[in-house]
Amino acid sequence: MANHVAKSCKPKHVDLRINTFMQKWNPKMRGLPQELKGMINVARKYSLRIEGLAFSRDIMRALPMWDHIYAPARAISRLLYPSRIVTCLRCNHHAKLVGDFERLAEVLKNGTHRASANCGCAGCKRLRDDDACENPHLCCTRARDLIVCLPDKWNPMLRHPEDYERDGMKALEQQIIDEDEIPFDRCITTYGDASQVFRIFTSSTLVFNGIAPMELCESGPTLEVATDGSCTNNGDADARAGAGVFIAVDSELNRSVRIPEGIEQSNQTGEMIATLTAA
Ligand SMILES: [Zn+2]
Ligand SMILES: [Zn+2]
Ligand SMILES: [Zn+2]
Repeated sequence: MANHVAKSCKPKHVDLRINTFMQKWNPKMRGLPQELKGMINVARKYSLRIEGLAFSRDIMRALPMWDHIYAPARAISRLLYPSRIVTCLRCNHHAKLVGDFERLAEVLKNGTHRASANCGCAGCKRLRDDDACENPHLCCTRARDLIVCLPDKWNPMLRHPEDYERDGMKALEQQIIDEDEIPFDRCITTYGDASQVFRIFTSSTLVFNGIAPMELCESGPTLEVATDGSCTNNGDADARAGAGVFIAVDSELNRSVRIPEGIEQSNQTGEMIATLTAA
């Protein structure tokens, strides 16, 4: 498929065209094998794309850097405009995926690294010896600039929910006194490999590509909220459901809600609307 593209297709090098859904390039549909054509058409028809609330670093790293689907096209093409550095990145460092560029960018973080072509730090030395790179500092700087271009949600060098969400859940579990209580699972990160990022039936609106702030406020006040749903004549045609939120006697935050006509009248919807109202 990567070979079957228009002459003007970018990225120009076939080995950089890794996945038509993770990158912006498209194959030429005419002349594609029927099975491939069918699969692509179904994917397009039902809006298959990569999306999710948060991803593990392993997933961010596994996506192609060149032509990255969510990277701003102009900034990226300026940074990847043919030059000695860009050729070195591709041919000597074999940098294709976000993770490859991240490894290069990490060299700059080492305290012994100096901003010069003949820096003698361990990272630069390794790139000179193993990759025959003439100027590791320039290559690593370019790699870092590219990573910085990625939307925050896709930048593995930033802090993400993956870094704290499981500890947050453990803290919640420890607060539980009553054995019957189940803490709400607030983990939002998609784990696994790059095959886990595809979503189908997505809406046409743009995805939010920032980082979802999922940190729990550690020392804030706590509020105990009771919710309940109820339904008279549950299961019958004349069922009428309601929802309640209780904080304290005479609290301004207490709520009672009659489930609107358009929503199924049942005890279940009552319970759900109660939780939603409390949130
Ligand atoms: Zn160095
Ligand atoms: Zn280089
Ligand atoms: Zn109930």
